[in-house]
Amino acid sequence: MAESMRGLHRSHRCTEVSNQNIGETVTVMGWVQKRRNLGSLIFIDLRDRSGILQLVFNEEAVGKEGYEKAERLRSEFVIAVTGNVMKRSAAVNESLKTGDIEVVATDLRILSESETPPFQIEENSQTKDEIRLKYRYLDLRRPDLQRNMALRSQVAYLMREFMRKEEFIEIETPMLCKSTPEGARDYLVPSRIHAGHFYALPQSPQLYKQLLMCSGYDRYFQITKCFRDEDLRAERQPEFTQADMELSFVDVEDVLDVNERLLQYVFKEAIGVEISLPLPRMPWQEAMDRYGSDKPDTRFGMELCDVSEIVKDCGFSVFTGALENGGSVRGINVKGQAGMPRKKIDKLVEFAKGCGAKGLAWLAVNEDGTYKSSFAKFMMEEALGALTEKMEGKPGDLLLFAADKNKIVWNVLGALRLEMAKELELLDPNQYHFLWVTEFPLLEWSDEENRFMAMHHPFTMPMEEDWDKIDSDPGAVRAKAYDIVLNGTELGGGSVRIHQNDIQEKMFEVLGFTKESAYEKFGFLLEAFRYGVPPHAGLAYGLDRLIMHMVHSDSIRDVIAFPKVKDASCLMTQAPGIVEEKQLEELYIRTTEVE
Ligand code: ASP
Repeated sequence: MAESMRGLHRSHRCTEVSNQNIGETVTVMGWVQKRRNLGSLIFIDLRDRSGILQLVFNEEAVGKEGYEKAERLRSEFVIAVTGNVMKRSAAVNESLKTGDIEVVATDLRILSESETPPFQIEENSQTKDEIRLKYRYLDLRRPDLQRNMALRSQVAYLMREFMRKEEFIEIETPMLCKSTPEGARDYLVPSRIHAGHFYALPQSPQLYKQLLMCSGYDRYFQITKCFRDEDLRAERQPEFTQADMELSFVDVEDVLDVNERLLQYVFKEAIGVEISLPLPRMPWQEAMDRYGSDKPDTRFGMELCDVSEIVKDCGFSVFTGALENGGSVRGINVKGQAGMPRKKIDKLVEFAKGCGAKGLAWLAVNEDGTYKSSFAKFMMEEALGALTEKMEGKPGDLLLFAADKNKIVWNVLGALRLEMAKELELLDPNQYHFLWVTEFPLLEWSDEENRFMAMHHPFTMPMEEDWDKIDSDPGAVRAKAYDIVLNGTELGGGSVRIHQNDIQEKMFEVLGFTKESAYEKFGFLLEAFRYGVPPHAGLAYGLDRLIMHMVHSDSIRDVIAFPKVKDASCLMTQAPGIVEEKQLEELYIRTTEVE
């Protein structure tokens, strides 16, 4: 039977009780973590959000009825206990904050009972994800998730505090928007009032924040949900949180400056990590050439080396063929791995194929200076020597090469580099290597769509010095776009925006919009630009990913209270679900799918 807490007031959270309180009477409330009976004593570990406190029941202090009640306690019962704080008589528990004290109960109330939970509430649970997510409210009782949620909240507070000091204004933008597909797929919301019409949930507040700049708000900021209906990869969530901002009368430098100070502040205050400024910057082209990635992990070297010049006449057709097709040959030097067993090398070849390569060429420099290589028989000893020298290969090194179109070569070697670093344990989670990647290409060719697509979004400003190439060589135009990268993940990105109608219209044209379709989708923005628009720029962080890094988790679900799984469903509520026929009728919707 559940008792009421009438007349009781919680005086302390569990770990707020300390040896300072010895001799005092306290009232604590929480969940039973564990019960142990020891002769005529019952020990209870009581848990709340703050941690664990040991309670002791003996008949003398709590009375016969109280003692019998204590005997009934099971894991996850919710109780209220009043008692006296004492120094622990036996075994002091060094691992607990309250390890040198205990509360000797004088009164016990069972506020609610619990069935046997489907899994033990404990740190680092080994329970399967499906079970944890089905019973997420229990999972969220675990101390590691509670710490994550608290840190997440703290980071949001710190961001708001910083942004307020910097005179940003937080403004909410709508959730029911107009569908402007360009990028990911929209989540649609049918309108009941306007038959056959749909709202879209925002993929980001992009257009609104640009309009706010037109309205003179100068510095805007918002922590907000965004929605993207993508084919889900493991680390994506259909709804996620952005920390979003936009500034007027600024250029790239201003945005980077305020953001690196923001990061410095948040990392210091939230997790005690010092970041020294300015953060390093690297143009996109350099990032691709050196690391094969636009979000390079710079905690280790193993940089890519372009050997195209060296091998252009080497006679090995895999290499020369790639060059003839306009591609390149590049390699990485895996130090000290010449002795890698053949089976393992074969696995790397398979890995490279999985990244789009046709194969992977390798060369091991033996300790005695001779070579063992997948292509030695196609190449003169001299050429092997020159290649090794260019790669700074020393006896004991393993050199891996990819030859193909640049995009594939970068992709393969970028991934291999990371794979080898993981394997060789070169990735120290306690190092924080931030990097700005700048000067992204404005456009990216899509074979699928057979047209250029905006690499960032259609509102991104091209670099002035490249604009004259927009017709002759659109792929070569760089953008005033930047990403902030931490240890190989993109934390956020943004750009300076186009604020001139003629450039914006040209951009739509290059992206294959007709004037009519551009106006149909973005007319309100183009209209707004006709009434005085300041130059503006901004950036958005993926807040979930940022927090995930701060807590060293490898799953985004560990930092979201109620996450969805890969197929975008919620295992706890069973969303999405089917709805009543009447609801559909009201919305003028008939589904083609029959259950
Ligand atoms: N809206 C952009 C995004 O979601 C960020 C930005 O450009 O500010 O990626």
